[in-house]
Amino acid sequence: MPGHHQGVAPHAFASDDALDAAALARAPVRYPRPSRLDEPLVVKPARAAEAAEALGLGTVGDLLEHLPRDTGEARTVATLVPGETATVLVEVRSITSRPVRRRGMKPLVEATVADATGVTKATFFNQPWLERKYRPGTRLMLQGSYQGRNRFRVSTHAVTSEVAAVEGAVAQYPATKGITSTEILSLVREHREALADVVEPLPARMRARERLTDRAAALTAEHFPRDAREGDGARRRLAFEELLLHQLTVLRRKARRGGGVGAEPLDEPPTLTERWLRDSLPFTLTGDQVRAMEAVGHDLQRDRPMQRLLMGEVGSGKTVVALHAMLRAVEHGRQAALMAPTETLAEQHFATLATLMPGELVATALLTGSTPAARRADILAKLASGELQLVVGTHALIEDTVEFDRLAVVVVDEQHRFGVRQRVALDAKAPAGLAPHVLHMTATPIPRTLALTAFGDLDVTALRELPAGRQPIATYVASGERERSRAYERIREELHAGRQAFVVCPLVAESEALQARAATKEYVRLARTEFRDFRVVLLHGQMRPREKHDAMASFAAGGADVLVATSVIEVGIDVANATVMLVEDADRYGISQLHQLRGRVGRGEHPSLCLLFGPKESPRLRALADHEDGFRLAEIDLELRGEGEIIGTRQHGATQFRVARLPEDAELLRAAHDHAERLLRADPELTAPEHALLAAALQAAYGAEALEPIPA
Ligand code: ADP
Ligand code: MG
Repeated sequence: MPGHHQGVAPHAFASDDALDAAALARAPVRYPRPSRLDEPLVVKPARAAEAAEALGLGTVGDLLEHLPRDTGEARTVATLVPGETATVLVEVRSITSRPVRRRGMKPLVEATVADATGVTKATFFNQPWLERKYRPGTRLMLQGSYQGRNRFRVSTHAVTSEVAAVEGAVAQYPATKGITSTEILSLVREHREALADVVEPLPARMRARERLTDRAAALTAEHFPRDAREGDGARRRLAFEELLLHQLTVLRRKARRGGGVGAEPLDEPPTLTERWLRDSLPFTLTGDQVRAMEAVGHDLQRDRPMQRLLMGEVGSGKTVVALHAMLRAVEHGRQAALMAPTETLAEQHFATLATLMPGELVATALLTGSTPAARRADILAKLASGELQLVVGTHALIEDTVEFDRLAVVVVDEQHRFGVRQRVALDAKAPAGLAPHVLHMTATPIPRTLALTAFGDLDVTALRELPAGRQPIATYVASGERERSRAYERIREELHAGRQAFVVCPLVAESEALQARAATKEYVRLARTEFRDFRVVLLHGQMRPREKHDAMASFAAGGADVLVATSVIEVGIDVANATVMLVEDADRYGISQLHQLRGRVGRGEHPSLCLLFGPKESPRLRALADHEDGFRLAEIDLELRGEGEIIGTRQHGATQFRVARLPEDAELLRAAHDHAERLLRADPELTAPEHALLAAALQAAYGAEALEPIPA
């Protein structure tokens, strides 16, 4: 375009105003010296220094990365508003202490403090030593509430060297015992100049495309907000960087896994699996199962190791998908192993496999810590020779003595319960120079937005559809006396029809003992009143193992009609004849916990009922009444509570972000993901000069491992 280059004269930031030579000469020149950020942070006194260390504030750079969690109001003495909490910057004029008449209270310290606009009296409670510490002339940053009539009640305070008045918004920091937000604020303000040494890791084009400010500006806006809303653009900028670095690490890890060691391609047409699906599988697969098998089958054909996560709730039929993958190995003359975190789970899988392959389609062995020595020796010999092609087990599978002839497929159940080392040990059982195809399984549904961060390095497949024949569970929220007696009535109807019921007592977080006592009381009450015509048993965490076992066994065998329990029943009890669950004070439980609890009914041939006692307006309880799908519930849970608090997520090691918030930042996450993909396509090792600072940031955030080369 002709004339386009005429405007080469420098412009003022974000405007059309050209800058003349004089303005340019006046412009500040910055030469960031990032090494200055590595200087140790000096904090006084000793208790505050210790606390700063506990917060991870070792250097000036750490301090600048310690982001505020909120903003407060700063005022001059003249503009203090009665009843308002505010920060003021003042100088001590005089200071005295006087005894307090109330018993147990230390003398009160009163200081006359002033700024350029006025004088007020500041009171400090319970800190008599301040009288000697804050001598006249000391400059202080005080946070507290103005009581009116020239009295300022101090809650936190710090010495400062600042002189200019602070007005408007001030940052409030996450603090800890030993150091207050005000002390951190004072420190940050003292190191304000170091913000000029902050480097910009994001390539300019990416920043322009996403309309992101530079890093120094974002940190400045966070620490020195001009108003409470200004922080949002800054937060978005920092969150984007955090998510981008995370996605880069995850995608590079995935690429490294895919490169390097290859896997046996299992690409021959199906023979055994086809016969199995046609002739011996005792039911029809769900659509989700078929799709999962296709995805897995596709992975197995490649000469790169499969790394797929299969998510599906308990009972969604994951095992049949796993077996299909394992049988693909068998029909290629290879071996497969399924590893579960506990003996009980390994035994359950072993039993499920037997029902899925009636008539001993393929010989399968069970190897756990309690396998007898002779049997174990036999299994080990047959695994080493290749005679045994399928094995199910626990950690016992990864012991050094276990050798496989040609292990090609590995299934890891409840994958989050294994450490990286254990998974690596199982990988190492494949023939030298090869990695096995790995199918990870989990019963905790994770919403899609989180899957990208929790399992970004795995391909994810979900089984949402429950197998046909599964009975629905109708869930109702009940409150008030009338609904309560109606609920007991309804339970008695079920009991008279020969069914069984659970009564779950309130969660008492403070104490197991209290919870046990409450459950015992409820048990006695119900056994004497509502369910006096039935056999009622009690189950809580404080009972002896023997008693617990007896209660559970008697209920499972139909020897008891009602089980009154604390939430201990969450851990695997499987009674097909139980059709009702009543949960007291249900709103004390989280969504995923209630969903798991509810899964104890609806396991047999009868339709089931779940009665949640609690406020009808509770969004969590309403979500349970409206939805049976665990994935949908996990999404709602995420919306209601935010990322960090989803119980299952933490178990799964989903990344806890410092700045980014999910699901609100889901859009930003997707953008970061796309940028990371594009960037790695163009420069997989981040060796281009314009990516040097990004590579450094990646290493700073995730260690040298993040930069390990991706093998071809
Ligand atoms: P998960 O491992 O996901 O908890 P399982 O694979 O153990 O679930 O399956 C639970 C039960 O459902 C098993 O008894 C299994 O045989 C049965 N099952 C699995 N898929 C189907 C299906 N498509 N139709 C009917 N029953 C099924
Ligand atoms: Mg299972």
